[in-house]
Amino acid sequence: RSLLMIPGPIEFEPEVLAALGAPTNSHVAPEFIEEFGQALERLRDVFLSSDGQPFVIAGSGTLAMDLAGANLIEPGDRALVVNTGYFSDRFGELLERYGAVVTHVRAPVGARPTLDEVEDALKGAVYQVMTVTHVDTSTGVVADVEELAALARRYGVLTVVDGVCSVAGEALRMDEWGVDIALTASQKAISVPPGLALLVAGPRAMEKFRRRKSPVANYYADWTNWLPILQAYEARKAGYFGTPPVNLICALNVSLKHILTEGMEARFRRHRALGSACKAAMAALGLGQVPVSAECAANTMTAPRYPAGVSGNDLLPRVKAAGAILAGGLHPAIRAEYFRIGHMGTANAGDLLATVNAIEAGLAACGYAFEPGTGVTAAVRTLALAQ
Ligand SMILES: *Cc1c(COP(=O)(O)O)cnc(C)c1O
Repeated sequence: RSLLMIPGPIEFEPEVLAALGAPTNSHVAPEFIEEFGQALERLRDVFLSSDGQPFVIAGSGTLAMDLAGANLIEPGDRALVVNTGYFSDRFGELLERYGAVVTHVRAPVGARPTLDEVEDALKGAVYQVMTVTHVDTSTGVVADVEELAALARRYGVLTVVDGVCSVAGEALRMDEWGVDIALTASQKAISVPPGLALLVAGPRAMEKFRRRKSPVANYYADWTNWLPILQAYEARKAGYFGTPPVNLICALNVSLKHILTEGMEARFRRHRALGSACKAAMAALGLGQVPVSAECAANTMTAPRYPAGVSGNDLLPRVKAAGAILAGGLHPAIRAEYFRIGHMGTANAGDLLATVNAIEAGLAACGYAFEPGTGVTAAVRTLALAQ
């Protein structure tokens, strides 16, 4: 067996997978209506939103971004992208497709724009929307969503958080932080196989959508089509616009139940512990990391740099042979210089130690010199301190 330790998809729980393999029910059967209704209610709890409108639609995380862009943006709206890498670039491009005038606040690769830099940009023009990539999966950089959302509120700007690599792993509190839209996909910390776009829209975002003058320029993504359906299922009634992915939604309901049983605070603590243990292990092995400081490094993933003399083509197949599947680089500017480890969702201490052990085995097979056990020991110590 090998462990899938990439930043999504991840390892899934047997009970979640069993829901996918169960006979498919009618999408209007009372049992399915109940499951979908529960999943919508639980989604609000996982996003820590009391009054947000949840959307669950067949598609990947990019569709969730598209839902936000298509429904929120009207031609000529100004959008500010707090850019921390590849997925921030994607959000900017997507918003432009719907007619937004997009400004990026950028930082060097591995860093994040400062609050002052973001505030300077907000002072420079009247924006309607600001997007933040909570964890940019191309760099492993985490944004300070709480501070950024507070700043955007002061300028009357809606905050949209791409939480595809963060929701149900990193602390994200929609209500408390005043986040207007948060979105994710099933295959990351939500811990369900790929196929669901998940989004919660708060009251200010729904109001901007309701006051639109132009129709939504995307038929499938248009909330006008989906809103009555989702409201119906939550009221335990059937509705139809497009056939919902019945099995995936049942699997989602199982996983959301697991997440809420663990508890959001316990879950955030577990991800912090795994994140710092993985980073301590890489540092002990002498590997640098893409995030320029511990403060801006995510808990859901780690982005270590290859040591001198070791390439991804040499290392990653050997780590896989030793039991852990990892991902190569994604950010175009540094693609060949680093790799990515996902430790989110179902990942536990045992998975992390097995992964660090597999990385040690891979490094040793590449001829990299280090004391065997150095990384595993650092991870064990860090996990013990986090208890
Ligand atoms: C994975 C990811 C996406 C894209 O999700 P897909 O399901 O691949 O479309 C977007 N943003 C972030 C931060 C991601 O990690």
